[in-house]
Amino acid sequence: MRPLGRCALMLALGACARALPTPSTSPPAPFPPEPLPAASPTPEGQRAELPPPPFVDGPLAIRVVYPVADALVAARDSNFIFGSVGSGRATLEINGVRVPVHPNGAFLAFLPVPPAESPLYELRATRDADTVVVAHPVRLLPPTLLLTDTGALVVDSASVEPRGPVIVRSFDPIRVGIRAPPNATATLVTKHSGQFAMPAGGLPPLINRDSTAEAVVLPVPDPYRRVVELMASVAGDTATIVVARGADTVRLPLPPITLIHDQLTPHLAVLGAAALLGGDAERSVVGRSVPDPSGTSKWFLFPGTVAEVIGRMSGYTRIRLDGMLSIWVEDAEVTPLEDGGSLPRPTLLSARIAPSDGWVDVVLPLGARVPFLVEERPRSLELTLYGVRVSTDAIAYSQGDSLVRFIEAVQETVDRARLTVHLDAAPFGYQTLFEDGRFILRVRRAPGVDRRSPLRGLTIAVDPGHPPIGARGPTGLYEADAVLEVAQRAQRMLEDRGATVVMTRSTADPVPLADRPIMARRANAHAFVSFHLNAYPDGVNPFIGNGTGTYFYYAHSERLARAVQRGMVNRMGLRDVGVFQQSFAVVRNSWMPAVLAEGAFLMIPEQEAALRTVAFQEAYARGVVEGLEMFFRALADER
Ligand SMILES: [Zn+2]
Repeated sequence: MRPLGRCALMLALGACARALPTPSTSPPAPFPPEPLPAASPTPEGQRAELPPPPFVDGPLAIRVVYPVADALVAARDSNFIFGSVGSGRATLEINGVRVPVHPNGAFLAFLPVPPAESPLYELRATRDADTVVVAHPVRLLPPTLLLTDTGALVVDSASVEPRGPVIVRSFDPIRVGIRAPPNATATLVTKHSGQFAMPAGGLPPLINRDSTAEAVVLPVPDPYRRVVELMASVAGDTATIVVARGADTVRLPLPPITLIHDQLTPHLAVLGAAALLGGDAERSVVGRSVPDPSGTSKWFLFPGTVAEVIGRMSGYTRIRLDGMLSIWVEDAEVTPLEDGGSLPRPTLLSARIAPSDGWVDVVLPLGARVPFLVEERPRSLELTLYGVRVSTDAIAYSQGDSLVRFIEAVQETVDRARLTVHLDAAPFGYQTLFEDGRFILRVRRAPGVDRRSPLRGLTIAVDPGHPPIGARGPTGLYEADAVLEVAQRAQRMLEDRGATVVMTRSTADPVPLADRPIMARRANAHAFVSFHLNAYPDGVNPFIGNGTGTYFYYAHSERLARAVQRGMVNRMGLRDVGVFQQSFAVVRNSWMPAVLAEGAFLMIPEQEAALRTVAFQEAYARGVVEGLEMFFRALADER
């Protein structure tokens, strides 16, 4: 993509196009807005400024941190390159372009991708009489096919969609696509059902996100893409895309499409069996709306749930939730059920409310694990149970507890039940459990907060991001090391304010991503903050949109995200990039407000240099801690 310009900037900044980098256009609050109190200004009463980078003047030593030598540059027009040259007095040219060198010897440039005939960056650094030249080879994307309007007809055979073998039901929709010149005709020719025109338009197929870049880039519409969507039985198992222009014709067979014929016995499978056997029952099986890791992950099912398999595509298995809805889970989560298994189709006859000190349980005797979905509303939780009939004529409430007011249970479709759990306040957190044949929706009470000392007595989970993976800055500062410093400062500040702190990591050793929210949940933390430093994926101009951002996932975390964002912007003095809703694994934590802070961009030389200073580490930590204070004080004010 061409990363320059306002439009590209918007795409680069958010999963949500509304999330522009100015506070006035950030997305609207899903809850009735209750304004947070203004943060106290910095002690000097003015906006914080980055500490100046130190002056370094050593011998010339060119080190390219990114892209790594021989790495694939996943951009076609321009990309960033950063590293250091050893001296702030040096001058630097990369592929003939003069690039500024910072006082500490760091550099960052956004330059045209090297040409195919010479796929390397030539870095020429000069200091006084010395000159050092380094050739830094990279790999380039295969050249884009020129889908020209004239000459011999060329189509992009690598762009055929679907990309691999597909297993579907006969009535499922199949999307067939290809990239071809606009003045050619594209047609899907089927064996038994005739021909179907493939009109222009549509987004390219979803692509996997870069694993280290943390900022988000959305796909852009592709004017060359021809798409038709039709029923699988109509496409049949041997369809061919035919592209024609004048006398030229190109034929491309589709990958095999296998139909699951309607059968008396459905294909049943156990989900998450490996997690169950490994004693990992606290992990959930993630269900997505599309067969792709970047698709919305919205369903978090119990390991051990039995479900019907109705398709397979791109490493994902399609499972039927009920007669109306199916979702996709990773193939590895699916174990076929041996003969004799059956699909549980329980009827809910009663419900019970069981209050405890910290929470209230809504207990549903279902007898079997069923797929479900929990959705947050301003003052309720909505629980959808798939494959369940509801016939509750008795719901037992308890005296003297008002968090759960009442429950509405309705049969939404023939095999889907929906329970609305009306609450006395906005949900603070919840979790779902399956114990002794009972489905439990555990609704958490908000903690009691002393507004003069809002963090006293609370438990805060502090998560220093990475390892594994993590970004590096131009002079080699590793994200995991930098955020551990910041997080440990935050730990001390929180403890000084009377909080108990749970650190998910306190050494340089890696901690698996999925373990971190579980640690916080087991500790019954009242909030979870993950500390990170941001990086862009290839192709994005890093000079335009960088700054401070905060991510959350569930609605009950939205106000904490805004408070932490405000705290960081007050203290760190960087651009306010905004608040984003995104399904990062560590913030998919329904039991407490959970946010992920991207306080600064490690690839920006000034920000990397600042991150090496105590003052800026303190500013990052203090901003987050003050955000937590603002959030809990506002919670106390509502009482
Ligand atoms: Zn990170």
